[in-house]
Amino acid sequence: MKILLLGKGGQVGWELQRSLGVLGEVTALDFDSAEHCGDFSNPQGVAQTVRALRPDVIVNAAAHTAVDKAESEPEFARTLNAVTPGLIAEEAARLGAWLVHYSTDYVFDGSGERPWLESDVTGPLSVYGRTKLEGEELIRQSGARHLILRTSWVFAARGGNFARTMLRLAQERDRLTVINDQFGAPTGADLLADVTAHAIRHLWAHPQDAGLYHCVADGMTTWFDYAKFVIDQAREIKPGLPIKAAEIAPVPTTAFPTPATRPRNSRLDTAKLRSTFGLTLPDWRHGVRRMLTEIL
Ligand code: NDP
Repeated sequence: MKILLLGKGGQVGWELQRSLGVLGEVTALDFDSAEHCGDFSNPQGVAQTVRALRPDVIVNAAAHTAVDKAESEPEFARTLNAVTPGLIAEEAARLGAWLVHYSTDYVFDGSGERPWLESDVTGPLSVYGRTKLEGEELIRQSGARHLILRTSWVFAARGGNFARTMLRLAQERDRLTVINDQFGAPTGADLLADVTAHAIRHLWAHPQDAGLYHCVADGMTTWFDYAKFVIDQAREIKPGLPIKAAEIAPVPTTAFPTPATRPRNSRLDTAKLRSTFGLTLPDWRHGVRRMLTEIL
């Protein structure tokens, strides 16, 4: 199997370099790769890369993920999150290749209390959410055989994420305030990468299972409880860690105005993924504790 991995240096891209290695020959590119264009701000360049390499499977982990910045550069975000993935999908359709792509809980409006299903109506609240949704739609319209995994609150030992930010702030400040009215599941980039590899193998034998799936770790939390968990675990894993934060206080979303509106309810229902691919998704705490053990 010839695999083209795009966005190899991101949280998920880095883990995919590991998990895809057992499936076949992987060509992994970033935006500044020299030999082939992996720069999503150059849609035609990336399309040319697909034509030149003729992969069996394309895995796209590149994206414009700076949610607040996207509000002030919507066209750039649209190029990275929708236009280029759409062109990749057209090339994949021509080649008969598979396209694996990642999307987000931000395609929903965050209303209600129950986990969102793949069949639920979308309603993005931000440029990031709208451009990611358009990316999904262009992939579907292309006719390419595809797997789209919608996920949420991604963390990894590498790269910037909420858990690592909390760990740093807890060592710098006496008191932290953290949002307590948004609900979701922190999901490890390593879990996403492992699920991706299993799903590709499954789809190779069962192409009728192509489509859209929700993929998040099991369980649910708020940013506040997540932050508390990270700091408690850090204290346990590394008792000598100089944590200053004596108090972590819960606050509402309104306490932290941001350019991009976040969904309040980011819960994603994973029943379709688990039953189709025969997978178990471990509780989010396992992955977070493992990541902390690795970085501390
Ligand atoms: P990261 O931001 O860690 O990785 C994104 C990658 O895209 C980075 O390697 C980044 O490079 C790269 N990139 C940025 N600009 C370009 C460009 N012009 N051309 C090519 N590559 C570029 O994101 P994640 O790994 O966390 O996200 C993976 C997927 O999961 C994305 O589709 C994202 O939308 C989705 N997702 C992520 C969530 C999260 O919480 N992070 C939540 C839900 C979904 P560089 O780092 O050098 O800028």
